[in-house]
Amino acid sequence: MNQTPGRKPTPKNQFSFSRLKSFDHCPFKYKLRYLKGLKEAFRSIESYLGNTVHDVLEWMYVARRDGSSPDITAVLEHFDEQWRQEWPEDLAVVRSSDGPDSYFRLGREMLERFFNEVYVQDRSETLELEQRCTARLSERVVFTGFADRVGRTTAGTLFVVDYKTSKRAGDPSEFSEGLQALLYAACALDRHGEDSALAGYHYIRLGTSNWHDVDRDRARQVLNRFLHLAEATLDATEFPAQPGVLCAWCGFNHICTFAAVPDGLNGGQSLARENLEL
Ligand code: SF4
Repeated sequence: MNQTPGRKPTPKNQFSFSRLKSFDHCPFKYKLRYLKGLKEAFRSIESYLGNTVHDVLEWMYVARRDGSSPDITAVLEHFDEQWRQEWPEDLAVVRSSDGPDSYFRLGREMLERFFNEVYVQDRSETLELEQRCTARLSERVVFTGFADRVGRTTAGTLFVVDYKTSKRAGDPSEFSEGLQALLYAACALDRHGEDSALAGYHYIRLGTSNWHDVDRDRARQVLNRFLHLAEATLDATEFPAQPGVLCAWCGFNHICTFAAVPDGLNGGQSLARENLEL
């Protein structure tokens, strides 16, 4: 198998939610990415869109915290600048029926919706943005992650919100809504000396939010569950491939002999192969 030049393997004891989700989706991809330290050969435009929208939301709340309040024109101008600033060479449009402009328009639509339906009415206080969360769970496992926004409602309730740009809202399962924001809330309880918080997911494309209560018991439960999953990952001796629809978005699909990438979703694979030949 040809290998994409690498990055360092992730420290063995550092576990993010994404790391465990990667193991759940495809143990073989997990092995390549986290144990061998290989770099994925492309970034999908969906992830670029998600990161760019997150950057703009952070900018909006930093501006508000600093006493200014950008209007929608400034928000969209900032998005345009960010989108075009550094167009990564490894950026792939996976769906061949789409073009980059459709994602650009989608980003603007999401931000307009968020601005009109959430931001202008939002009177909550921002405490932290892109806050690093860590918790040592055992000798072998440290949980790490970044909370998009930590704040307080006007009634004083601590909350943590994770912004999503996905097409669909999540469900209660643990690799959807069941763990991620709740883990960040568990860390926020300690940092802010509180006994309860709200953990939320805001779906920017849909304009909806789902909130979960996290008290000290719930926090312990989710941290214990995360520890259990991380320990199982550490103890794994086999890493079978689990091909499926997500292969199209996997940055190893040009070197993985198990990849199942249908025509019409092969933009990433084609780009990776072209770059390999250069
Ligand atoms: S291409 Fe598919 S099967 Fe291969 S590593 Fe990626 S997700 Fe797993």
